[in-house]
Amino acid sequence: MHHRHKTQYMKLKKRQILFLLLLIAGTIYVAMTNNGGNTTKKAKDTHQFTERIFGTTMNITYMAPVDLRDTIMACLRGVDASLSMFNPNSTLSRINRNETDTLDKHLLYILPMALSVSEATEGAFDITVAPLVNAWGFGFKNSSLPSAEQVDSLRALVDYRSISIKDGRIKKTIPNVVIDLSAIAKGYGTDQVANLLQENDVENFMVEIGGEIVCRGNNPKGEAWHIGINTPIEDNDVQRNEVHKIVDVHNRAMATSGNYRNYYIDETGRKLSHTIDPTTGYPVRHNLLSSTVMAPSCAMADAYATSFMVMGLDKAREIVESNNDLQAYFICSAEDSTDIYQVWTNIEQAK
Ligand code: ADP
Ligand code: MG
Repeated sequence: MHHRHKTQYMKLKKRQILFLLLLIAGTIYVAMTNNGGNTTKKAKDTHQFTERIFGTTMNITYMAPVDLRDTIMACLRGVDASLSMFNPNSTLSRINRNETDTLDKHLLYILPMALSVSEATEGAFDITVAPLVNAWGFGFKNSSLPSAEQVDSLRALVDYRSISIKDGRIKKTIPNVVIDLSAIAKGYGTDQVANLLQENDVENFMVEIGGEIVCRGNNPKGEAWHIGINTPIEDNDVQRNEVHKIVDVHNRAMATSGNYRNYYIDETGRKLSHTIDPTTGYPVRHNLLSSTVMAPSCAMADAYATSFMVMGLDKAREIVESNNDLQAYFICSAEDSTDIYQVWTNIEQAK
């Protein structure tokens, strides 16, 4: 999981400042009336904070009478302790080292979902792709690039069908298969925070982890949450966020996958993306630059967003058009130089 901001909320600075001032004034007013009597019910304050988690940033805004920051962070640390392959003590790391085969509640939920996305995408999404990701220099960094022979031999280690679940335990037909949940864990973590907020009767919130988002209810201004889809600017070093399209997200999850920022150029000038096609063993390279997916859950949106980057526009469109749960916003580089980007979307308001 890498540090990237792929989304940004619509910035209506003046109105936001005005709103904040009103909010502060309101809070002071409530505090003053609370001092007078003990019968006044505490107002639903707007809480907003940013934290580092999963090697990326989380941004959250929610309206609630109480501060839930510590509970939220404890929840996310629980997810990290289960699913992170960068944490050697996580349940996943121990499963990868064959120290245990017992799945915890997070893995029992996420593994079947990941495998179902693999089935639905004919293996474009594959959580056993790690040996290839590493060979190409992503994940755990590698100094030299693999030869065609090396890629072929590593492909033998990559197959989601080698994993199955029985009675709460994992079964592997390839004993040294490595499970990498990087392409779904951020979305799942976002879902977990959303569930936690709902359990605490929070009706209005927006939570975002590394570009994966869940929105419920309205924003502090009482409007729908306005979420920006970034322009896929091909730039590795500079963090530039330029909004390409703003969409309203109503009680939905949204995730974006893009190969425009996390890539590197090899010595022959080839551009290598961090999304690997599990069937070829090579980094994907086509003109789909970013894939934004809306789905009922953020884990699902996250996994499909990555899958679509592997498949390319035509196949991705087929899946979106045949699945009522999915909506997408795809940005492609144009063949001709007249238009810089071409968009395909089935999100009505984004057309
Ligand atoms: P993005 O935001 O571009 O989707 P993610 O961090 O969500 O980025 O996912 C990228 C990571 O997913 C890679 O670093 C790698 O660990 C993993 N990955 C790469 N290719 C695949 C694939 N075909 N299926 C599943 N996971 C993949
Ligand atoms: Mg992803």
